[in-house]
Amino acid sequence: MTLTTESSPLAALTRQDPELAEVILGEAARQADSLQLIAAENFTSPAVLAALGSPLANKYAEGYPGARHHGGCELVDVAERIAVDRARALFGADHVNVQAHSGSSAVLAAYAVLLRPGDTVLAMGLTSGGHLTHGSPANFSGRWFDFVPYGVDPESGLIDHDRVRDLARAARPKAIVCGSISYPRHIDYAAFRAIADEVGAHLVADAAHPIGLVAGGAAPSPVPYADIVCATTHKVLRGPRGGMLMCGAELADRVDRAVFPFTQGGAQMHTIAAKAVAFGEASTPAFSAYAHQVVANARLLAASLGAEGFEVTTGGTDTHIVTVDPAPLGVDGPTARARLASAGVVLDICALPHGEGRGLRLGTAAVTTQGMGEAEMARIAVLLSGVVRDTLDVREVREEVRELTGEFPPYER
Ligand SMILES: *Cc1c(COP(=O)(O)O)cnc(C)c1O
Repeated sequence: MTLTTESSPLAALTRQDPELAEVILGEAARQADSLQLIAAENFTSPAVLAALGSPLANKYAEGYPGARHHGGCELVDVAERIAVDRARALFGADHVNVQAHSGSSAVLAAYAVLLRPGDTVLAMGLTSGGHLTHGSPANFSGRWFDFVPYGVDPESGLIDHDRVRDLARAARPKAIVCGSISYPRHIDYAAFRAIADEVGAHLVADAAHPIGLVAGGAAPSPVPYADIVCATTHKVLRGPRGGMLMCGAELADRVDRAVFPFTQGGAQMHTIAAKAVAFGEASTPAFSAYAHQVVANARLLAASLGAEGFEVTTGGTDTHIVTVDPAPLGVDGPTARARLASAGVVLDICALPHGEGRGLRLGTAAVTTQGMGEAEMARIAVLLSGVVRDTLDVREVREEVRELTGEFPPYER
C-alpha cells in the first residue's frame, strides 16, 4: 500500500477532511523516518490494513458465528470461522476466541471464567515487569482481586521458580498468571504448570508479547500448559490491534460467554477479518523466518549494547525484548529515553530487577519487519550509546536515523 495523498481511500479522506488526513500522513511519515524500537509495536501488512479499513467495520455482529443477535451476518460469520480455524491450526489449540478487543480485554475475560471477586491471584509484580492487568491498583484487576506479586532475582533478573512455589504454597492462589511486558527470556510454562498443580491453582498464560514468536516456532508454546492463554494480535504477531484467548474444549463455552456477553458487546468484524489475514500470514515459512530473525536481531542488539557499556538484564535475550540499565553510561532511563527521542529513536522505559531505577526496553519486531538485520542492529547500538553518552551530535544522529530507515521503508512509497 502506498500511503500518499493520491491513493484511495486516503484520497477521499484528504479531499473531505484535510485536517485529519494531514495527521494520518504525518504519523505515517513519523513511523517511517524514525526508529521504532517499542517492544509492543510492529508494522502490519497492507493486506491487514485493507481488512481493517474495509466495510466489515459497518457490521453489527453480537454473538458467535451461526448464533448472532443481528441479521445479515452470513459473510462476517465466514470471516470469524476462518479466523478461528486458522488460529486453532497455527497454535494447536482446541478452542480460540478471536473477539477480545484487546490484550487487557482477553485477560479480563480469563479472570471472569476462573475467578470470583476477592479471589487470590499470584502474578508477576508490576515493579518486576507485570502488566497493569496483573494487579495494578489503578486497574480492575487490583480492585477486584487480591494479587500476590512474585518478582525476579535481583542479581540474575531471572524468575526464581523456587520462590514462586514458596509464595504459591503460602498464598494458595485460585490462579497463577505467567507473562510479562518486559521479561526478555522464555517463560518456563511447564514449571508454572507444576507449581499451579501443586497448590490446586488455575494457570493463566498472558502471552501478549511472545505469541508471535510462538506462531513462528521461535518460542515455546503455553498452549499445552495453561488453562487459558491470553494474547494480543498486534505485537510480534503483526496483526491488527486486538486480543484473543485459547483454551481446551472443556472451558470453550465459558470463555466465549466471558467475552460476549459478560465483558464485551458487538464483535469488531473488520478487526476479526484482519486477525484472519494475520493468522494466514503467520502460517507461512516466511513468517517463521521472520520470527527467528526477530530473535537473532534482539540477541545481536543485546550483545552490542552490552559491548557499549549498557548493563543488559539477564545478560541477553531469548525473545524480541531487550532491557538494559543505562546507569553505567552515567544517565538514568528517563533521561536516556528523552535524549534518544530527540534523535528519532523511539523506545520505552521499564522496571529493572534491582533497585528503583528505570531502564530502557527495546524490541526488534518492527525493525525486523522493515528488513533490518544484524548489521543494522550493531549500527543502532553504536548510535544509541553515542546519544545516551552525549558523545554524538543529536542532529547528526537524527539524520543518520533518517538515512537508515530510508533504506528500509515499512511501506512501499
Ligand atoms: C500488551 C500486553 C497486554 C495488553 O494488551 P492491550 O491490547 O494493550 O490491552 C496484556 N498483558 C501483557 C503481558 C502485555 O504485554
